[in-house]
Amino acid sequence: MKNPVMDGKTVADRLRNDMKTRCAALDFSPGLAVVWVGDNPASEIYIRHKQKACAQVGIHSVLRHLPAESTQAEVEQVIQELNADMSIHGILVQMPLPQPLDEASVILAIDPAKDVDGLHPVNSGYLFSGTPGLVPCTPLGIMTLLKAYGVDPAGKQAVVIGRSQLVGKPVGMLLLNAHATVSFLHSRTPDLSRYTRDADIVVVAVGRQNTLTREMVKPGAVVIDVGINRLEGRKITGDVDFFGVSKEASLITPVPGGVGPMTIAMLLENTLKAAQLSQAETL
Ligand code: NAP
Repeated sequence: MKNPVMDGKTVADRLRNDMKTRCAALDFSPGLAVVWVGDNPASEIYIRHKQKACAQVGIHSVLRHLPAESTQAEVEQVIQELNADMSIHGILVQMPLPQPLDEASVILAIDPAKDVDGLHPVNSGYLFSGTPGLVPCTPLGIMTLLKAYGVDPAGKQAVVIGRSQLVGKPVGMLLLNAHATVSFLHSRTPDLSRYTRDADIVVVAVGRQNTLTREMVKPGAVVIDVGINRLEGRKITGDVDFFGVSKEASLITPVPGGVGPMTIAMLLENTLKAAQLSQAETL
């Protein structure tokens, strides 16, 4: 039987090598700025990973670290400085922001052309209308992984469990734009399996262990597990019962090693894309 595991790490490594070559061919260095407010230790780990990944492909990264008690105006002032900085092509605000900062207002302050997280309403609008723009990294990583494994969503039944701005909604839109028939399920959906049992592609982005189990999927389905759930110690697991579901699925992403590495690779891809577009605009 064919190995059903979609190896996001290997695909991401391949993409990174390709990006390294593309970066080296430029006569300038693409720049990513990370804005981090407060001292959340989990954020620190994510930021370190992102900066390391940037260095590996030749993107220079800068960190703007602000105290937790920064005001809305102080955070947005930093964003304005980065918007005006020609050496910075991508701006990422590490979420969550400490209370009482307004995340939506901070996102709105980012120049849409530098919004490498793809969260600005201008970029959401592009996605909604099927126009090229900057797409959120995790959904873009999922589509790239499907492509790498030869999965064409056209004509397929796709189910997305979760409807967040960050993952659920954008991945559903990308699947729709790729001509799948898409259903969004969420916390008010009475019976998830009623939909998942008919699905050719199931994306689970909930943040709850065992949201998708073996009896909920049809044989041959492609299953993408976005969830990250921390177990005791440092171990993490996804939203899908990997052991059970992998007996039915034709393809399935593991956690870790599936969607996670693709997300970081897409952050680099978006930064490179924003850098290349900025040059095209100045020609
Ligand atoms: P989120 O904003 O908390 O959204 C979770 C979604 O799940 C909501 O739409 C919620 O429905 C839905 N939900 C909650 N309980 C449910 C249930 N019992 N049945 C069906 N749907 C339910 O989370 P997120 O930012 O989308 O992230 C989802 C997961 O992916 C988290 O574990 C996160 O850590 C992980 N993640 C991983 C990556 C990666 O790179 N691997 C990137 C981003 C996120 P309502 O809208 O009705 O509340």
